[in-house]
Amino acid sequence: MSKKTNNEEHCSFCGRPASQAGMLLSGLDGMICHDCAEQATKIFQEQRPGRRGRQGYDPAAPIPAPQEIKDFLDQYVIGQESAKRVLSVAVYNHYKRLRYNALQHDLRESGAPTGELGVEIEKSNIVMVGETGTGKTLLARTIARLLKVPFCIADATTLTEAGYVGDDVENVLVRLLQAADYDVEACERGIVFIDEIDKIARKSENTSITRDVSGEGVQQALLKLLEGAEVNVPPEGGRKHPEQKLIKIDTRNILFICGGAFDGIERAIGARLNSNVIGFKGDETRRELDRDNMLQYVQPMDLKKFGLIPELVGRFPVLTYLQPLDREALRRILTEPRNALTKQYEELFKMDGVTLEFTPEALDLVVDRAVEYRLGARGLRSIMEGMMTDLMFDLPRMEKGSVYRLTREEAEKKIRL
Ligand code: ADP
Repeated sequence: MSKKTNNEEHCSFCGRPASQAGMLLSGLDGMICHDCAEQATKIFQEQRPGRRGRQGYDPAAPIPAPQEIKDFLDQYVIGQESAKRVLSVAVYNHYKRLRYNALQHDLRESGAPTGELGVEIEKSNIVMVGETGTGKTLLARTIARLLKVPFCIADATTLTEAGYVGDDVENVLVRLLQAADYDVEACERGIVFIDEIDKIARKSENTSITRDVSGEGVQQALLKLLEGAEVNVPPEGGRKHPEQKLIKIDTRNILFICGGAFDGIERAIGARLNSNVIGFKGDETRRELDRDNMLQYVQPMDLKKFGLIPELVGRFPVLTYLQPLDREALRRILTEPRNALTKQYEELFKMDGVTLEFTPEALDLVVDRAVEYRLGARGLRSIMEGMMTDLMFDLPRMEKGSVYRLTREEAEKKIRL
């Protein structure tokens, strides 16, 4: 109930009279001043799923230059120079575009004449082609860490078109919204990494006899997200049901990065390159092809040949590739990244007062095994874990202040695969 003293209205929340609080809005049974209304709005925004706020995200923060982005990636990801450069530029442009379009929006809002408005800068979603375990997810995750924007990973193989058993494509956005802690504005500038995009390819370029549940339908549904649409998502994920409150998310500014192994795409690339050179001026113009790494020549048309629909390919203007990891790269991955495996074990030992040292030969053995079992970088961790288990079991009993040197002989005994 608003109090009245000397016939003056008071705010029912803070009690100040209108002479101090300014204009008061009256409700059925009370009044509220501007300050209290603002405070209440803030509280609601913080509590409500789908709030619009800017928790921890600063759109005015300077955008890192491509070189800075690449330097950051170098700390976590070994090799993959080409992908790093392409990604750095694409991400730099993406955020410049956000800034530019926001300015344009403000100009339009302020009623600026059309002549003063600039062009519309289009979005550059990215596809990374490369064997599994070569660092695609790691690259996307590291970029999100640098830019401090919400980030989520989705697996294309779990997606289905609406109406089928499985995840609706919109659930990708639910995950991003959750990563953004339900801050819709932050979510709308986030990054989504969709893994295994190659697995939703059409089985052949002209499949049409039956509807291809796992392929074209999902591609069409995904296309809607990539094109920049307002999508209604159920805040808790799962299936939409009629009485559920939906949150509207505009995907126009969300950066989609997709990754896939595209097994066998080398053949399509090879065939295209061979047919291209035939009929040309002769051998002197024939490019010396690096047959061991055909992915470096990948072009959008190869993705089409593989079974991605042209509309989808068109939505991925940036295409890059990752190289298979050779012995040297695997060896570097063990020790060089900021959170390299050896560093992690050294820290674990340090917590028990023991200095752990790996001899170079012991690490060579780990790499040998990863290559032998064709496990790639992903295998390094399980091999190391197998090698270290017994040691870590005994670790609390080791003498504090001692040094433990892991030799190749020791490692050989401990690696059980
Ligand atoms: P992908 O997405 O290509 O299948 P990931 O990025 O998930 O592969 O890589 C799996 C793991 O292998 C990563 O978490 C990381 O530990 C390691 N790894 C893979 N490639 C690299 C790389 N180029 N540099 C450093 N670590 C890597």
